[in-house]
Amino acid sequence: MKLAILPGDGIGPEIVAQAVKVLKALNLNMTMTEAPIGGAGYEASGDPLPDATLQLALDSDAVLLGAVGDWKYDKLERHLRPERGLLRIRKALNLFANLRPALLYPELAGASTLKPEVVSGLDIMIVRELTGDIYFGQPRGISTLSNGEREGINTMRYCESEIRRIGRVAFDIAMKRRQSGQKAKVCSVDKANVLETTELWRQVMIELSAEYPEVELSHMYVDNAAMQLIRAPKQFDVMVTGNIFGDILSDEASMLTGSIGMLPSASLDENNKGMYEPSHGSAPDIAGKNIANPLATILSAAMMLRYTFNDESNAFRIENAVKKALAQGYRTADIATDGCKQVGCSEMGDAVVAAL
Ligand code: NAD
Repeated sequence: MKLAILPGDGIGPEIVAQAVKVLKALNLNMTMTEAPIGGAGYEASGDPLPDATLQLALDSDAVLLGAVGDWKYDKLERHLRPERGLLRIRKALNLFANLRPALLYPELAGASTLKPEVVSGLDIMIVRELTGDIYFGQPRGISTLSNGEREGINTMRYCESEIRRIGRVAFDIAMKRRQSGQKAKVCSVDKANVLETTELWRQVMIELSAEYPEVELSHMYVDNAAMQLIRAPKQFDVMVTGNIFGDILSDEASMLTGSIGMLPSASLDENNKGMYEPSHGSAPDIAGKNIANPLATILSAAMMLRYTFNDESNAFRIENAVKKALAQGYRTADIATDGCKQVGCSEMGDAVVAAL
């Protein structure tokens, strides 16, 4: 197993160090090689995605990333900014499937803005298509009409094969997540009543579902899905949707949990090679203070074991260790409540290792 470790900027190095600590404690047969990306890449070689970093990522089975970005780079030319490094590596690795779980540990139910009984025990996986849809469709642009008025155009488009491959990811994940005795569920989100692109989306999902008789497929219009995520989020298991709807719904779902420091993510290619990173950014405001929450990154490492390395048992061990550390009362500042044991970033990493 070859793993590229890209700590990045801000709190990136601190949180990634905790995930590495947890992985090392599992004694896996894994080589880990570190390289700079984002602002760190720019500092090292004048490029937010240095050639050597890209090559390392291409040669590895998976990439574990911290976060990129710092306000001090905001004045750089666009192509030199840290975020460009991230967009380029996602494209170079052809990561078309974005997995964003929204999981709320019962111990943290008070952190959500919703009532604890609505969100406690929430466990949703949003599968978002990442390389197509209205974000990339041509034609696009702003032009001036003959009457002098300006017009903006974007084009929503998906071809069948793009829909099928993201659908397959969602169905496969639903099978992996299935609890014994329960039916796996996929809810496909579209706007098939208005948009032909998503009418095709729905047709392809229905065709594909014939290959997955164990999975119950349902459909929901995106406006209703946005409402249902707030009204009764626990009705969902796996949700699959296109790029723009997924962008919005995954952020909505992540806020159900109320704590940005807890949410992992994965982006996969067709062979389940993946890049794993926390959903949050580089938090320059708290960088270097040993107060960041490393759990999203540690949970990203668990996703990596599950989705790229097919190692369900060690993924489960990490997730259980995180649960145990929370149950023992350990909290970083962002999730701290009265009566808990407030700890720093590295102590939280130690607590998870001890709980393994
Ligand atoms: P952010 O997610 O970095 O921070 C938002 C708030 O959440 C801050 O108050 C921060 O302190 C807090 N926070 C974030 N992660 C935390 C953690 N693990 N533990 C405790 N608190 C945490 O978003 P932002 O402030 O809008 O952006 C900061 C920088 O991050 C920018 O340069 C932005 O471009 C970059 N960014 C990078 C990514 C990425 O690498 N994927 C994503 C979003 C933003």
